[in-house]
Amino acid sequence: MEVVDLRSTPRIPAAETGVIAWSEALDGAISGALERREQIILLLNRRGFATFVQCPACGNVPGCPQCAIALTVHQTPPALRCHYCGHEEPIPETCAMCGHVTQRLRGLGTQQLERFVGMRYPRARIARMDLDTTTSKWAHHHILDRVARGDVDILLGTQMIAKGLDFPNVTVVGVVDADTGLHFPDFRAGERTFQLVAQVAGRAGRGPRGGRVFVQTRAPEHHAIRAAAAHSVAQFAAAELPLRTPPQPPYPPRTGLVRFVIATDDHARTAELAEKVAAWLRRAARERLDGMLTVLGPAPCPLMRLKGKWRWHVLAKSTEPHVLGRVVRAWRAKAHRAVSVDRDPQSLL
Ligand SMILES: [Zn+2]
Ligand SMILES: [Zn+2]
Repeated sequence: MEVVDLRSTPRIPAAETGVIAWSEALDGAISGALERREQIILLLNRRGFATFVQCPACGNVPGCPQCAIALTVHQTPPALRCHYCGHEEPIPETCAMCGHVTQRLRGLGTQQLERFVGMRYPRARIARMDLDTTTSKWAHHHILDRVARGDVDILLGTQMIAKGLDFPNVTVVGVVDADTGLHFPDFRAGERTFQLVAQVAGRAGRGPRGGRVFVQTRAPEHHAIRAAAAHSVAQFAAAELPLRTPPQPPYPPRTGLVRFVIATDDHARTAELAEKVAAWLRRAARERLDGMLTVLGPAPCPLMRLKGKWRWHVLAKSTEPHVLGRVVRAWRAKAHRAVSVDRDPQSLL
């Protein structure tokens, strides 16, 4: 596995790639594979719907001082905002670490990548696999069948194409933009990136021709990338667990977590209800739970609009399981239809 440091590696000029960072290393490997009639897989590890600020020189991304997750750019009013606790700060024009002018990044979409790859390698037969192209029942089997038959030169898409990695004629695998996953506003961002990159690194190049894996990133020293390159879950856990342990903001497995999601048709009503849930939790923490409960928020969910609803959430953390149990039972007794409660949630979108 080759970790391609986008801060310093030679890149195809922006005049040809637009906003897409395309290293000469990945470009050369793809062209070579196409000439030899081998196949290529290009992965995007996260749909980029959250815009974050990153320094192109040192890779620094502003995070929330209370929650240690990446802050997200909001336009109205213009601010960086934390999707866990609601913390806000001005959008920095220069990097706090090195002073370089910052850059706003949204992460690539699969369609955007497909368009670019189509222009860059005009003779290649390209298939895209993501939620949009696999809505019908057998769609993703059909796409993988075409790859297996050799009717596709470049398969690109999201995590779901990791299944295609066992094809023996696939000799180049590119994780195009590891940073979108790393700086996703989620305390599991590092874990998810580690899992994907480790899976890709472990399974590519199964055929007799072998294979090369390229991971493009501006954070090559991030423990998720390094542990994935070393194929080591133990190495990842050893670096990640201290980051979820006090004095860092604690997260599972170091603390229990309950998420209250408030969703209604009306944005103002959602925000107001979310404030009430947070106030109720803070009062309970103070008056009944001896401060054994920490409340974050309210804040808009990273997916603020979903299926026509406006969504906000409030997070409650405690190292005492019985405290969270009491909170959940007390809330359920109130049974508010616009509020759903999720104990130890797998997703915080
Ligand atoms: Zn910097
Ligand atoms: Zn925060």
